[in-house]
Amino acid sequence: MRTGRQLIDKLYKEHMLKKEEWIFLLEHRTKEDAEYLFSLAREQQKKHFGNRIYTRGLIEFTNICRNDCYYCGIRRSNSNVERYRLTMEQILSCARSGHELGFRTFVLQGGEDLAYQDEDIVEIVQTIKNAYPDCAITLSIGEKSCESYKKYFDAGADRYLLRHETADENHYRRLHPAELSLKHRKQCLFDLKEIGYQVGCGFMVGSPGQTAECLAEDMLFIAELKPQMVGIGPFIPHHDTPFAEEQAGTLELTLFLLGMLRLMIPNLLLPATTALGTIAPDGREQGILAGANVVMPNLSPVSVRKKYELYDNKICTGDEAAECRMCLNRRMESIGYELVVDRGDFKPLEGEFAI
Ligand code: SAH
Repeated sequence: MRTGRQLIDKLYKEHMLKKEEWIFLLEHRTKEDAEYLFSLAREQQKKHFGNRIYTRGLIEFTNICRNDCYYCGIRRSNSNVERYRLTMEQILSCARSGHELGFRTFVLQGGEDLAYQDEDIVEIVQTIKNAYPDCAITLSIGEKSCESYKKYFDAGADRYLLRHETADENHYRRLHPAELSLKHRKQCLFDLKEIGYQVGCGFMVGSPGQTAECLAEDMLFIAELKPQMVGIGPFIPHHDTPFAEEQAGTLELTLFLLGMLRLMIPNLLLPATTALGTIAPDGREQGILAGANVVMPNLSPVSVRKKYELYDNKICTGDEAAECRMCLNRRMESIGYELVVDRGDFKPLEGEFAI
């Protein structure tokens, strides 16, 4: 068996490892391996993006959800959540302030709220697109039929985020009730890609029952899907869920995985997530220094922010959009990076590793 450092070199050169190699690297990683990995990850990040960090403005437009995922604070069974839906006017007002602050991508995220018919989502997409034709729209509203995805795409949606959550069947069962299936979630991702969306998948780090083998499966699945974005963040328990007493994922492992993802897909859009900023005060900065290149501050009205509580102690729930933007500006500048006013589209590579 090779050493961690040799495996990192192999990943750097070949952009892929075998399943046993991912497992070995994860199980035997040292502090020195991590430093080495991050230095190569930053080299790739700088090569493809310079010191430019892309931003996406997140609009959490409904916290009503038909699903009952065991980890999620807004799961159907949590009767302590005060449920809300933003009106079209509220959504547009978030987009307006976001646009003024320099956001050129809006991510509309929500629970799987059946009150929204396809026509409603289409209307939201078209209205924002008409108002801000220079912006990209990302949807993150869960599992839908291929026909629905097609309608949203035809209405102007550019991207879709749907974390696969875990690529391991048994682990998927541990995290979700029986009516949800990994097979269907993966099918959704392949459908989205086929339709022409820029697609983001992803997983939580350190969710209950996750092993190095599960993470190796995640890496293999990501290599197969070839997404344009991968969102990962630590699992953080929420007090009103069946996982209330479980351990949170660690900063250290999340950073290591960010570094591995940067080397596997060098031009990948890779966010330093809010969950990462929640488990450590400088989590997002450390994420950028491990290879991430995107941040997704919250544009939702302050009045609803606390109600979109996927996990405990979520940061930025009291700040106005402008404060979030300024705070992130400062944070990025403090480590030598800058937030840019740009849609931040995925740029395919020429040649061998083009996707
Ligand atoms: N309904 C949409 C959006 C889900 S919320 C969908 O199904 O895609 C966005 C992401 O938050 C989820 O995909 C999940 O990975 C993450 N999340 C949910 N609960 C979490 C928790 N307790 N800790 C960390 N991340 C969590």
